Amino acid sequence: MKSSDYFEQARMLMPGGVSSPVRAIKPHPFYTKSAQGSRIATVDGEELIDCCMAYGPLILGHAHPLIKEAIATQLGKGWLYGTPCPLEPEYAGMVIRDHPGMEMLRFVSSGSEATMAAIRVARGFSGRPDIVKVEGGFHGAHDGVLVKAGSGATTLGIPDSAGVLADVVAHTWQVPYNDPDALERLLFRHPEIGAFIIEPVPGNIGPVLPEKGYLQEVRRITRAHDVLLIFDEVITGYRIGIGGAQEYYNVRSDLTTLGKIIGGGLPIGAFGGRRDIMERIAPAGPVYQAGTFSGNPLSLAAGMATIQWLHAHRGIYRELDSAGKRIGEAVTGKGGSFVQHGSMFKFFFRTAPPRNYREVKECDTGRFSSFWSAMLKKGIFLPPSQFETNFLSAVHNEADVERISDAYRSCL
Ligand SMILES: *Cc1c(COP(=O)(O)O)cnc(C)c1O
Repeated sequence: MKSSDYFEQARMLMPGGVSSPVRAIKPHPFYTKSAQGSRIATVDGEELIDCCMAYGPLILGHAHPLIKEAIATQLGKGWLYGTPCPLEPEYAGMVIRDHPGMEMLRFVSSGSEATMAAIRVARGFSGRPDIVKVEGGFHGAHDGVLVKAGSGATTLGIPDSAGVLADVVAHTWQVPYNDPDALERLLFRHPEIGAFIIEPVPGNIGPVLPEKGYLQEVRRITRAHDVLLIFDEVITGYRIGIGGAQEYYNVRSDLTTLGKIIGGGLPIGAFGGRRDIMERIAPAGPVYQAGTFSGNPLSLAAGMATIQWLHAHRGIYRELDSAGKRIGEAVTGKGGSFVQHGSMFKFFFRTAPPRNYREVKECDTGRFSSFWSAMLKKGIFLPPSQFETNFLSAVHNEADVERISDAYRSCL
């Protein structure tokens, strides 16, 4: 059967034919038969260089032998206990050591769960009902953060997603990225705001880069207003560097959410931060949070093997950065803007690099889709949206980067 056949079936059985909306590529997505290293093999017999990497988790590529071994070893010991296991304190200790502001953490099963719990504990700790997020910031698919960024609907407190209560999103404020004054004005007027959640480097519309001093200003302002700062590093954690964006930009958050890379390709999330905040979580405190699959040994084993590899190969971040730069050089003079942060990169169909969501939305998405299809014909799989970051992994080699660069050059 071909991809189109599978999709015909899937469309009858699953909404939009997919398990997550971004995968619903038109006219039909390709179906993956297997994946290895930097390559995806489709059921149609094509081999693609993957620059999507499952939207971020696969920093060691597909089916890395070390991770496979870690999973296999754990499989032999069972894969779900419903009791604590030694991997939990061991892995928690590693992650905490890598994040200067983090004193305690809890493992969950997805990034969405992590941000949901982080926001809940922030409320439980501060006693204040409202939160702020950045326009275009993505923190998973739960009610309180599904607010249409930047639009009039937001201002009016009308949910972007049907089914989300206006009462819920009425407690979610928004500010533009790279605009510390807007944040300061908002916090000044609204003492009911207790937390600010932000992707330090927005990856779900970008990457969009912070202007010099922006994140420092965010820290200063939140502290001055006694507002908890939550860094959502589900993408940037171990992606921008071992200590994520907080280490790279030397800014400490009160709470941090992680996911994606820390599961080594298996489902995971984590949230952590200051001890006095985290000790509000049940059973240490009154903020309830729980999960059957939380801290499951397979995800922990796969994640820990990944993080150990990254620790042993710290030079990889520099190498990934120069690989990204080579792609950037290939597209100079092509009329759009190339934005890169290490292994995260994007070509925007907009003359100047966007600074915020409003500017990102000015991109020519029509041109993006023809470009995207042309890239696929050349055997390069990019995330199928102008608004999703491309990723490189440690196993994209020189030849891959060359082929990606050539494809960019000719398709643009
Ligand atoms: C992917 C992502 C999430 C959600 O993580 P899931 O594991 O998909 O639930 C949250 N925040 C950010 C910044 C993300 O990129």
